[in-house]
Amino acid sequence: MVRMVLVVAAACCAYGQTLSVNPQVKEIVSKVSADRIAEIQQKLASFGTRNIYSSTTDPNRGIGAAREWIAAQFRSYSPRLQVSFDKHRLKGDPSQRLFKDVEIWNVVAMLPGTSEPERQVIISGHYDTIHMVSKEGANGRRMLDAEATVAADAPGVTDDGSGTAAVMELARVMSQYEFRKTILFVAFASEEYGLEGSSTYAEAAAARHDQIEAVFNNDVIGSDVTGNGETSNRYVNVYSEDPNDSPSRQVARYMKEMNFRYQPGFEVNLVFRHDRFGRGGDHSPFNAFGFAAVRVTTPMENFSNQHTATDTFANTAPEYTALVAKANAAAIGTLALAPKAPQLGATAPQPGRTFAGGLSRGSGYDAVMSWHSDHPEPDLLGYAVVMRKTTSPLWEHEVFVGNVNTYTLPRVNIDEVVLGVKAIDKDGNESLVSAFVTPPYRQRKVEQY
Ligand SMILES: [Zn+2]
Repeated sequence: MVRMVLVVAAACCAYGQTLSVNPQVKEIVSKVSADRIAEIQQKLASFGTRNIYSSTTDPNRGIGAAREWIAAQFRSYSPRLQVSFDKHRLKGDPSQRLFKDVEIWNVVAMLPGTSEPERQVIISGHYDTIHMVSKEGANGRRMLDAEATVAADAPGVTDDGSGTAAVMELARVMSQYEFRKTILFVAFASEEYGLEGSSTYAEAAAARHDQIEAVFNNDVIGSDVTGNGETSNRYVNVYSEDPNDSPSRQVARYMKEMNFRYQPGFEVNLVFRHDRFGRGGDHSPFNAFGFAAVRVTTPMENFSNQHTATDTFANTAPEYTALVAKANAAAIGTLALAPKAPQLGATAPQPGRTFAGGLSRGSGYDAVMSWHSDHPEPDLLGYAVVMRKTTSPLWEHEVFVGNVNTYTLPRVNIDEVVLGVKAIDKDGNESLVSAFVTPPYRQRKVEQY
C-alpha cells in the first residue's frame, strides 16, 4: 500500500486564484495504463459472448466465466477491495427482449473509505453484451431472434468492454491508495436487456438510503473513429440530466473541471441532456431513484460495430479509453478525498425573505447566502462561493470566503445569476457545488407568491 504525503496546495487567502492539483490524484492519473486496458478488453472478448442468457457453467465461454474472471481480477488488485456479486432474479416474458427467467450478477468491488465510509462514489460500466440477430416475424417485419441472439458471438469490446476495462483499471490503480470516502467499482449485467442490473442496484441503494454522491457511468468509451470516417481522440462527451443545476449537472461540471487540472490536452465536453436520442444507459436508473449520475461516451461512435460480431478488439482504441479513464480518475479521485458538499440554508432562522434554501436579497440589493455542514470534517479549510450568468454553462467566478456559514456579495442581483457554494479541505480537495436554485415553476406551492 502506498500512502501519499499530501502537500497543502491551498494557501488560506489566495485560494480563489489557485487551482489545486493533488499529488495523489496526479499519480493515479499517470498510472492508468492503455496496455492494461487493452489486455482486459482482449480477455473479455475471449469469452465469445457475455449475453445474460449465455452459459454460466462453461469455464471458457459465456457470461458465467466472464463474471468470475472480473471478480478474480478485482481480488488480485488489492486485499482492501471487497469483492461481491450483487445477484438478482429476473422474470422473463416471451413477448419481450427479456424473454425468459434469468439470474443476473453485477460484479462489485468496494474500496472502503477511511474516515467517511458511508459516503460513496461509483464508477460503472456494463460487462454484458448482445449481438442482435433478427428474423422475419409473422407480419413480415424483422424481429429479434431471441435464441439465435443468445448463441451468436458478441465480443462487445467497445460496448461495453471499454467501460468495464476502465472500471477495472481504475480499481487496480486506486486500490493502492486511501480515500476519505468509499469508492465502488461496478460492472453491471443486463444493460443490454432493459438496464436491469443498474435498475435493481439503484432501487436497492435507494431502499438502503445509500449516500451516493455521484455515479460516473462509462458506456462505449472505446472508439475514436465513426462509421463515416470522422476521427477524434481529443474529447469525450458527458451527458447529464436537466434541469441546468441538477445534482447530476454539478457532477458533470466537476468532471470537466477536474479533468482539466490533470489532463488539459483532453476535453470533457458537456452535453446538457440526459442521454443520446432514443437510447439508454445505466446512469438513468440512478437518476430515476434520485441519485446524481452522468453518462460518459465517445462522440466517435461506429454504429455498424454496435450489437454486432464486429465489436472486436481490432475496432477499438485502448489509448482513447485510457484518456477517458484518466478523466474519470481525476474526478473520482478528487471527489473521494473531498469534504461533503455544504447543505444550503442556515440552521437558525435568518432575517428577511429567503429563497432557494438559504439565498436572500439581504437589505434589498445584495446576494446573501447561508449554508451549513452537519458534522464538518476536522480538516475542513472553508468554503468557496461560485457564480455565473444564468446563460453560462460553467461557473465563471469563484471566491474563497473562509470557514464561515454565511456570506454577502454586495450589489449582486440574485435574479440575474446562479450562485453556489462548495467545501474545500486543507489539501485543496473540493466538494461538489451546492447551487441555490428554485424548483421548476410547476412544482412551486401557490402560497410562495
Ligand atoms: Zn452499452
